[in-house]
Amino acid sequence: MRTALVTGVTGQDGAYLSQFLLSKGYRVIGMMRRSASSDVIGERLRWLGILNDVELVDGNLTDLSSLIRIMQTYKPDEIYNLAAQSFVAASWQQPLLTGNVTGLGASCVLEAMRMVQPGARFYQASSSEMYGLIQAPMQSETTPFYPRSPYAAAKLYAHWMTVNYRESFGMHASSGILFNHESPLRGIEFVTRKVTDGVARIKLGLAKTLPLGNMRATRDWGHARDYVQAMWLMLQQDVPSDYVIATGRTTSIQQLCNIAFGYVGLNPEDHIQCRNDLIRPAEVDVLLGDASKARRVLGWTAETSLEDMIAEMIEADLSRHRVRLAA
Ligand code: NDP
Ligand code: GDP
Repeated sequence: MRTALVTGVTGQDGAYLSQFLLSKGYRVIGMMRRSASSDVIGERLRWLGILNDVELVDGNLTDLSSLIRIMQTYKPDEIYNLAAQSFVAASWQQPLLTGNVTGLGASCVLEAMRMVQPGARFYQASSSEMYGLIQAPMQSETTPFYPRSPYAAAKLYAHWMTVNYRESFGMHASSGILFNHESPLRGIEFVTRKVTDGVARIKLGLAKTLPLGNMRATRDWGHARDYVQAMWLMLQQDVPSDYVIATGRTTSIQQLCNIAFGYVGLNPEDHIQCRNDLIRPAEVDVLLGDASKARRVLGWTAETSLEDMIAEMIEADLSRHRVRLAA
């Protein structure tokens, strides 16, 4: 039985990846940071019905000793570094913490692995945000980066550290440059989930308006359930490398709203409130990924359409609110 260590196990991708690894017969060690709310923090794992199947262990990306101890105890064959301060908007409010966790934190995982488990395989959760002010209409592994937020700058550092540990020490370290991916387990602060939750509230008469920022930005949105499979595939290759994971379709926030409101028979113009305070200090206007390398080498393609994913998210949010209303 192979053992996988997943940092960020309580997040969206940590939950879906754990579910996928368990289905493959892995022993899954999920690292979570100690919290006074540990009874609710495993909500996503509970939602997927795997809370009791993942072995949860306390640790923090900013505490190298905790990572060393975990690796010594569990000797993982595969290490998936998903933990991060992952919200771009928050990274302008907490740039130092973001640098510490999202950037240096990845170095801590690599360093612990180098000391304790150099033969393990490592996955780094890199991000399309690293392309920022895009240098090519479609972004691939060879497109130059131009980060536009403290989050993106921190991710870029972690990305290059992954490449450097691979090239300097011969470690099996791969970086997945994942474009935005969503699901019913997406954090409520991200725009897709904010919209599907808002649509559900409005449909049920719990709210009238939905405040949003820049409606013109476009994103290449896929489903997290599809994307975690690509992470695993990367670590099954003989040779470590970096891969763009994307759908190849980009959609504006306005179009996303049209799809979501349309799904429940509402008109977005009756409910959306554009608010200047939700506009970011710097914007990433367009992201559109070219995942042809992943298709060619990993045999991976995105399966779920944006429409199907939005429908799944709205249905999940409607159910959540109906349960609360009934309680
Ligand atoms: P989430 O925000 O849902 O999850 C982040 C996880 O990191 C949570 O489990 C969180 O724990 C944990 N975490 C935060 N700080 C620390 C810390 N100091 N020590 C240990 N754990 C910590 O992110 P996603 O699941 O959406 O994304 C997974 C990774 O992929 C992230 O690195 C993200 O930046 C990256 N990524 C995501 C994309 C997306 O569209 N989803 C696109 C590209 C990259 P807690 O529950 O306690 O907050
Ligand atoms: P990001 O691509 O990682 O920053 O993912 P987000 O879901 O947070 O944001 C995607 C895009 O939606 C960005 O261009 C935001 O500026 C835009 N956006 C517009 N209104 C909102 C909003 O109210 N919340 C969020 N999170 N994003 C918004």
